[in-house]
Amino acid sequence: MADALLGPAEIRDLAARLGVAPTKKLGQNFLHDPNTIRRIVTAAGLTPGDVALEVGPGLGSLTLGLVGAVRHVHAVEIDPRLADALPGTVPAAHLSVHNADALHVRGADFDPAPTMLVANLPYNVAVPVVLHLLAELPTLRGGLVMVQKEVADRLVAGPGSKVYGIPSVKLAWYAQARSAGKVPPAVFWPVPNVDSGLVAFTRRTPPAGADRRAVFAVVDAAFAQRRKTLRAALAGWAGGAGRAEQVLVAAGVSPQARGESLTVEQFAAIAAAATTSPPGGKLSPSDAQPEEVDS
Ligand code: SAM
Repeated sequence: MADALLGPAEIRDLAARLGVAPTKKLGQNFLHDPNTIRRIVTAAGLTPGDVALEVGPGLGSLTLGLVGAVRHVHAVEIDPRLADALPGTVPAAHLSVHNADALHVRGADFDPAPTMLVANLPYNVAVPVVLHLLAELPTLRGGLVMVQKEVADRLVAGPGSKVYGIPSVKLAWYAQARSAGKVPPAVFWPVPNVDSGLVAFTRRTPPAGADRRAVFAVVDAAFAQRRKTLRAALAGWAGGAGRAEQVLVAAGVSPQARGESLTVEQFAAIAAAATTSPPGGKLSPSDAQPEEVDS
């Protein structure tokens, strides 16, 4: 890791010199605490052969930590002022700066191919950025991201937890995630009014049997009406509550269960059953029951 990391005085000087006033719209809260940078780089579990992808390098606090730890760093920054200034702050031959929106980057934009995502993410787009990058960059073997604490809790939640939802299941499709700790507001400038959390993740083989888009459609439908039983919540997706029940039974999932109790494997089994179990096939005995009305 580079010895010279940026502290509070350096961050303010740099911002003043570049004429940068942090904007809320772009989630610009810059790290000014070298200990937090060291903590992130260590917790990321990087090896010297890794190629790091950093989304939102900002003034370069974390980038300086990353260039000392890996073989190459790709930094994707949407703000042209910050992207232009980054090579001056981090003068490393193995740094590539991409002035781009991370939500729209493609695998072909990066050479060498990134192996680890390490970022203090812009909080307003954190979840879509992580999911987009995992879909777009199969070479990513894992990562460590800092997000709003509430979002971190959601990302690592398992079935049965109150905060388990769409981000939890979709991240679980790609990776095993765990909390890597909490970060206080005081390490940022400007100071945000929320706590932050670190999420570490390791890529896994996705559940077999169904296509990602098909599985994510089931997940979206199940959580759009999370208080309803799956039989009711999936009625629109399946083309009727009876058909939803038939698919759920074929998938080995109780029609009375709710989405918040299902693993990603069970969501995949439902999507798979929708294609393998023919509509109008033999109904289960419970199909004879009247349509359930639940709120
Ligand atoms: N990594 C820096 C640090 O820790 O000090 C800055 C992190 S700050 C929370 C988020 C950064 O992401 C800002 O520099 C912001 O301009 C940038 N950003 C916001 N939206 C973005 C997007 N869609 N794509 C790429 N960068 C983005």
